[in-house]
Amino acid sequence: MSSNSGIQIPSRLPLLCTHDGVLLPGSTMRISVDTARNMQLVKSRLLKGTSLKSTIIGVIPNTRDPEHDSDELPSLHSIGTAGLAVQVVGSNWPKPHYTLLITGLCRFRVTQLLRERPFPVAEVEQLDKLEQYTEGGQADGELGELSQRFYQAAVQLVGMLDMSVPVVAKLRRLLDSLPRETLPDVLASMIRTSNKEKLQVLDAVDLEERFKKALPLLTRQIEGLKLLQKTRKLRPDDDKRVLAIRKGGVFPGRQFSLDEEVEDEDGDDTAMLEKKVKAAAMPEPALRVCLKELKRLKKMPQSMPEYALTHNYLEMMVELPWSKSTTDCLDIRAARVLLDNDHYAMEKLKRRVLEYLAVRQLKSTLKGPILCFVGPPGVGKTSVGRSIARTLGREFHRIALGGVCDQSDIRGHRRTYVGSMPGRIINGLKTVGVNNPVFLLDEVDKLGKSLQGDPAAALLEVLDPEQNHSFTDHYLNVPFDLSQVLFIATANTTATIPPALLDRMEVLQVPGYTQEEKVEIAHRHLIPHQLEQHGLTPQQLQIPQDTTKDIISKYTREAGVRSLERKIGAICRAVAVKVAEGHKVSRCMCREPTLRNYETYTSPPEMPIVIDHIALKDILGPPVFEMEVSERLTLPGVAIGLAWTPMGGEIMFVEASRMEGDGQLTLTGQLGDVMKESAHLAISWLRSNAKTYLLANGSADPLEGTDIHLHFPAGAVTKDGPSAGVTIVTCLASLLSGRLVRSDVAMTGEITLRGLVLPVGGIKDKVLAAHRANLKRVIIPKRNEKDLEEIPAHVRADLDFVFASTLDEVLNAAFDGGFPAAVNHPQVVSKL
Ligand code: ADP
Repeated sequence: MSSNSGIQIPSRLPLLCTHDGVLLPGSTMRISVDTARNMQLVKSRLLKGTSLKSTIIGVIPNTRDPEHDSDELPSLHSIGTAGLAVQVVGSNWPKPHYTLLITGLCRFRVTQLLRERPFPVAEVEQLDKLEQYTEGGQADGELGELSQRFYQAAVQLVGMLDMSVPVVAKLRRLLDSLPRETLPDVLASMIRTSNKEKLQVLDAVDLEERFKKALPLLTRQIEGLKLLQKTRKLRPDDDKRVLAIRKGGVFPGRQFSLDEEVEDEDGDDTAMLEKKVKAAAMPEPALRVCLKELKRLKKMPQSMPEYALTHNYLEMMVELPWSKSTTDCLDIRAARVLLDNDHYAMEKLKRRVLEYLAVRQLKSTLKGPILCFVGPPGVGKTSVGRSIARTLGREFHRIALGGVCDQSDIRGHRRTYVGSMPGRIINGLKTVGVNNPVFLLDEVDKLGKSLQGDPAAALLEVLDPEQNHSFTDHYLNVPFDLSQVLFIATANTTATIPPALLDRMEVLQVPGYTQEEKVEIAHRHLIPHQLEQHGLTPQQLQIPQDTTKDIISKYTREAGVRSLERKIGAICRAVAVKVAEGHKVSRCMCREPTLRNYETYTSPPEMPIVIDHIALKDILGPPVFEMEVSERLTLPGVAIGLAWTPMGGEIMFVEASRMEGDGQLTLTGQLGDVMKESAHLAISWLRSNAKTYLLANGSADPLEGTDIHLHFPAGAVTKDGPSAGVTIVTCLASLLSGRLVRSDVAMTGEITLRGLVLPVGGIKDKVLAAHRANLKRVIIPKRNEKDLEEIPAHVRADLDFVFASTLDEVLNAAFDGGFPAAVNHPQVVSKL
């Protein structure tokens, strides 16, 4: 080829020596520059020069590895490619280097090396014509025939690729518009060829020879593709993908390239995903979406941010248990034994759970209600849920909903969001890996609400058996069948569960435990469990029943057993230290004053270590709760009420005092509106009945010249509800009459202005609280009498219940010797 027409490259070129990759005219290549000479070339030529000429350099392939690059310039390949440096990117990490993006222009031959340092510069002879691509003159003879064959082969190859990929379509157009003589270089740089083969094409200066060298490579590629099509028998799309196309290859001004290495990695990855998608046994709509996304993924360069997003999405989709499930192994008798073994007491709950399971056994497609266990913390709600999963042989997953206030927590974020991810339900399914687990929705009463939507509304869809077979997570954007999932919810109170949600659930109350039940639970479950957790055996540590009772009454005040379990844990830890230290501990600690004394002994401890009340004090410190009831009732104007809180029942003191004033009522102790109204009601009733009960001290109004202050201790806790009405009346009656309320009486009940006592809720928890506090008499509204059935018989036996329908009955029961009204004994009273 002569160089006497068209565009000329400079006759002197700086030389960039590469050791990997061969730049052919018409293609673009990234070259990493890290040898001293090449660095110098980039610095002083490319980075300093501003003219177009300065960006043209000669690329000499196949130079020795830079590792061995010494001062001496190695012998250079005589033919190279003049290239245009399109981009220079510098980096200092891990060591200083540049990356050049170079587009090959034409061949040249080195005629004379002019200098070697700091970088080689040579006198060159241009070998290819560089013309505008408009000439398009057809060659004749053998060359013409060769170029025609080559062109046809190229068209055939492109025809086998996926035309919907834009770069392939572009290539197809380019085949027609490019001059034929450029085709061998362009195609050789795209198809699967080794460096050696590329070098042969580069060295073929004669055009005919170049066609001859490149044609077999092209045919080989076509044959390879055909073979793959035959053996794979995949869809046409897959066949066409055998050559992936990625950016990087640039024909001057027109980009395209087929790069093998990256394509392979990329191809492996997507092929693997594709396999997984097909193996995931998804329902039709999900599969369709996956295949569509997969198709998009194949066309995307890996560097595109969307690639990672789509990839993650597909990974998520294939990991979901679309059709993986465990087989239920339900045997009601075994379930009963298991539930009984795992949990002491809670008979009612266990009975209902067994009924539920029995129905499931008879009808596996049960669209029954969602069970919701409601009760104070630590009463075993979660633990029963776990047992249900075990009896069914299902996976168990707990979803904590406390504080969740964004509906996308349940339903996921749309994929358009940065950092989007599926909601907790779908994530849970991915974690357990089966589509029929037991999901425990913990603390549904503590769902929040915010600007980001109402998570309870999202839960509605999850829990509705009519809808949840097509639950659509925003992230997945395809329905997932949740109908096989067994949902169980837990809550401390139903008051804060959104009504629509509550409507979907069957509420099972789990009340607190009595002291006796707690002792049993401790000895049957908590102590053995804690011993095991701390690596101890019953031969090493024994906690007698009396000690357990002490722990329950003096160190804990709760409806459940969680803090009892913690205290037992603390004892185990203290003993574990002793056992591990090998100090002598006497057989019974009651003989020794404190644990500290044992440290003076050095022989191994004598087993078992028995915890008595002194050792208990030593480990847990002084008692946290003392029975203070009787001490507090030494003055008139104090009465004990019973309150219900989400933590269980509690006893509550009401205190009143009077002082000179003008009939004002002061209320303190964080009261809600209903409670304030109760206080006003109580005052009004007492004022109107002052004469009857001789409270007014001669005058018509007991509040004349007096201010009254009512206080509800534990002022940091907000209290509300009408059930303190009777207690306030009793307390004020005591204050005004100057008589002491019985110190072993607790009461609850709403009052009316006419002195009637109305029923209230939470009777079981309240009665248990009174029992815990060792009170003897409990006054409850008459209409609550039926609620006593739920209370264990031994608790009922310990307490004296008074069922009151009027305030008169309440007062009579609350004071020793009754609270006589004047009408009954007018003479006696007036004399007093
Ligand atoms: P909740 O979910 O009601 O707050 P958990 O289920 O977490 O309470 O129970 C706390 C601990 O108390 C667990 O270790 C559990 O095993 C134990 N527990 C509670 N009730 C019982 C019971 N009736 N029998 C045996 N262990 C119980």
